[in-house]
Amino acid sequence: MKIDLTLAEGLKTPLYYYDRSLLESTLQEVNRCINGTPIKVHYAVKANCNPKILKVIADAGLGADCVSGREVTTAIKAGFPAQSICYAGVGKTDRELIGGMKAGIAYFNVESQEELEIISQLAEEYGYKPNVCLRVNPDIDAHTHHYITTGLEENKFGIHQSMLQKAVEFAQNSHYLNLVGLHFHIGSQITNTEPFKLLCEKINNLQDEYSAKGIEFKIINVGGGLGIDYDDPDKNPIPDFKGYFDTLLQNLKLKPGQELHCELGRSIVAQCGSLISKVTYVKKGLNRKFIILDAGMNDLIRPALYGAHHKIENLTAPKDVKVDIYDVVGPICESSDIFGKEERLPVTKRGDLIALRSAGAYGESMASTYNIRTLPESVLV
Ligand SMILES: *Cc1c(COP(=O)(O)O)cnc(C)c1O
Repeated sequence: MKIDLTLAEGLKTPLYYYDRSLLESTLQEVNRCINGTPIKVHYAVKANCNPKILKVIADAGLGADCVSGREVTTAIKAGFPAQSICYAGVGKTDRELIGGMKAGIAYFNVESQEELEIISQLAEEYGYKPNVCLRVNPDIDAHTHHYITTGLEENKFGIHQSMLQKAVEFAQNSHYLNLVGLHFHIGSQITNTEPFKLLCEKINNLQDEYSAKGIEFKIINVGGGLGIDYDDPDKNPIPDFKGYFDTLLQNLKLKPGQELHCELGRSIVAQCGSLISKVTYVKKGLNRKFIILDAGMNDLIRPALYGAHHKIENLTAPKDVKVDIYDVVGPICESSDIFGKEERLPVTKRGDLIALRSAGAYGESMASTYNIRTLPESVLV
C-alpha cells in the first residue's frame, strides 16, 4: 500500500489509514479466482466493520459472515443483501436469533444441540423456517499444528463429531428448520496449506459417512483462516488466494451442485490498513531507547493480546538518516503495551509519524476506550 500523508492531513493521530485501491485489487483477485467455481466468499465482518470498508466489500459482491446480531444489522446497512449473510457464534441470544430470521439471512451456523433446539422453538413461535448449517468441530491435532486454535476438541466451538448424528436427525425432523449444510472453521493466520488439506480430508470422510445414510448437504462451509505476510507487506500485499482456493478444490470431493463457502476476514482487509501514530517522546532509559507513540494497545491490541508483530516504519524521517535501536511502545498503563522490541529504525524524533503496517484486520474493530481514551479515527484514501 502507498501511504500518502497529504491525504491524511488535518486528521488526528492515531489514525487508521486504509488504501482503497489495494482493497479493491484484493477483492478483484478473489473474484478472479472464484469465477467459474462453486465457491462463494463471505467476508468475516469481525475483521473490520468500518462502514466505509464494508461498503467496498459489499460492492464487490461478496457475502458477509457475522458473529453477532449487530454485525448482521451493520452488514445489511452497508449493502450486503440479507440472503448473502451467514451467522455463526456459540452464544446467539433469542433476540439475535429472531432478528436474523426476521431479516431473512441465508443461514445460521449452529454450534450446539441446545442452540438448534432453541432456534426450532423460536422459528415455530414466530413463524419462520430458517436455513441452518451445523458447525462441526473438526478436532484437528493441535500438537502438529499449533496455530490452529478453534478446531480443537477441548474448545467451545462447534458440535463434536460424536454428537453430530443426533443434531442432523433433529434438524431433519424439525418442521421449522431447513438443514442446508455443514460448517467448519479451524483457526486464523494459517500460512501453509497442510491444515486446510487435513480439513478437506475430514470433510470428505464425513460426507462419505452421511452419503451412505442418504443424507446430502447443499453447502460445505470451510470457514476462514488464510494468513497474510506481516513481515513483508510490500512484497506480499495480496495473499495467495489462488493457492488457497486450489487447495480446497483439489482436495475436497464436492458433490454435483454443491456450493463451497469460505469465510475470509484477515486475508481480505489486513494489508490495506496501517495504524498511523505520532511520536510523543523519544525517551532515553538506562540501556534502551524508547519511542513512545500516541497509539496504544487500546487502538491496536494484537501485539498485547497475541504477541503479534506489525511491521514498524518511520514515515517522516529523512531517507539518509542513520539507524538506531528502539523499543516502540504505547502510552497505556500496562507493561504489555509494546509494539516492538529492539527495532532497527531511522533516528527518530518527537513528532515523527510511525506506521504500524498490516493493521487492517482485527485492528480498528478491536479498539477500545481503555484508559478513557478516544477511539482512533479512520480514513479510506
Ligand atoms: C473469525 C472467523 C472467520 C474469519 O477468520 P480469518 O482468519 O479472519 O479469515 C471466519 N469464520 C468464523 C466462524 C470466524 O469466527
